[in-house]
Amino acid sequence: MLKEAAYYARMAFYFGQFVRLAPVADARALIAETLQRRDEHFLDLVRTGVYGNPNSPLYDLLTMADCGFGDLASLVTTRGIEHALERLYDAGVYFSHAEVKGAPIVRRGRTIANTVGATRHPQSSGGIESISSGSRSAGITTPGSNAYRRYREAYESILLAELGAEDSITATLHSILPAPTALVYCAGEARRGRPVSRWFASGGSRRAAPYRVITRALIAEARLLGRQIPQPTLLADNDFSPVVEWIAGIRREGRGVLIRANASTTTRVCAAARESGRDISGTVFVTSGEPVSDAKRALLREVGARCYPRYVISELGTVGLACSKTSGNSVHWFCDSTAVIARRRTASFADAEVNSLLFTTINPHATRLLINAEMEDHAWLVRATHDCEFCRLGFTTILEDVHSFGKLTGHGLTLAGSDMIALLEERLPKAFGGVPGDYQLVECDGDRQSEVQLRVSPRVAPADLSPLLTYFLHEVRAMYGGALSERTWVQTSSLKVVAAEPYRTRNGKTLPLHLASLTERIRA
Ligand SMILES: [Zn+2]
Repeated sequence: MLKEAAYYARMAFYFGQFVRLAPVADARALIAETLQRRDEHFLDLVRTGVYGNPNSPLYDLLTMADCGFGDLASLVTTRGIEHALERLYDAGVYFSHAEVKGAPIVRRGRTIANTVGATRHPQSSGGIESISSGSRSAGITTPGSNAYRRYREAYESILLAELGAEDSITATLHSILPAPTALVYCAGEARRGRPVSRWFASGGSRRAAPYRVITRALIAEARLLGRQIPQPTLLADNDFSPVVEWIAGIRREGRGVLIRANASTTTRVCAAARESGRDISGTVFVTSGEPVSDAKRALLREVGARCYPRYVISELGTVGLACSKTSGNSVHWFCDSTAVIARRRTASFADAEVNSLLFTTINPHATRLLINAEMEDHAWLVRATHDCEFCRLGFTTILEDVHSFGKLTGHGLTLAGSDMIALLEERLPKAFGGVPGDYQLVECDGDRQSEVQLRVSPRVAPADLSPLLTYFLHEVRAMYGGALSERTWVQTSSLKVVAAEPYRTRNGKTLPLHLASLTERIRA
């Protein structure tokens, strides 16, 4: 409770500070200048945040790799950042996904102490923290500096120009606190003189009541500072018709509509439009948090809407955005903020080979300093063959077919696979009988939204599955990011428990997590 109070006190402070920031005057000039000084920024970050900061686990990793600052600087200057990163990777300088989340680092038989805070840049200015939920891991949060949030708005300005949506009426469909996404987006747009018209959020449950109060308090804080943020319109569970009504009304006035949402919510809106027969054609959805599957795209086409994915990782910021010419789950990679190398590896949950991306933070405003951090995301790096606003800035590499292979991402939520496995393989069999392999969590693409199925082998499934569902949801709440997942699954009715044999991979393995859409995608 006290921890939560301190968390929201910090949020109110940094949110107030963010709301007061002046907007970026010239987005193109800012990005061009940052890009031009890419090598210099990276070396500055490493000099102050690693070589001058023995508390960073990277200090130990680089010492073990026998790489001094002079060695690194000369490698970067002569061969470039990405070449240097490949060499560092080979020498053991990298973070696995668990290590990014603070797990101890073991290299060459030595254990290096590590926490989430240890990779924070000591000179970072601090800022609004991202989601913190789950009692077992309370306090593990990723702050994003206000300076970096402001910098990232430059990308969004260019996206609007690229999509021809600068005069569109805007709305957001993201949830209220504890996730700060929508609140920060609305505040940013208000600062930039283009306030968001509507904020639709699901959040009808009684448990969300304290969050509604805090959300209202922060909106009041912004309004006192002269920034217009709409009060959230709370949607009753599973009812997206108010969003459709609103869009149809704007369409009748002949105005364009741009909505920020995750892919599942986007498809729910399109399905509601199809059911009601209302016209939402021309609506632009800018989505994030999960890939947009072919089934979801087909529905969007049917109602005449378009969607453009954003690729955002809380520890890294905006990795890339789609443009009007990219297709599928592809984005322009913003090489002024991160460096990327890739390696081929087997995705354990999908039993398939992937091109895993390793990220390094290089933006001077970055809050955390990570080198070769594996986020368990797959993509191909290809050169853009079209012309667009992003290409003209120098962002000519496309991350093609981005998707996650180590975690559940439905509804824009992220649950680490490793936490889930302990629940599926150890705690569920202990509580309800059976062995590892009898319980499997399947993420698949339903008709209208991403769905999650808990499959329980009929050998062990009780006649009444509801106590099992209650236990499962209770345990999920305790995970990092779990409270929000649990709430979303309940509100959108997207989690089902079924007595059915878990799926096997083509090699005959039964994996505790089965990401159906990914498996199909890689095999296709
Ligand atoms: Zn483009």
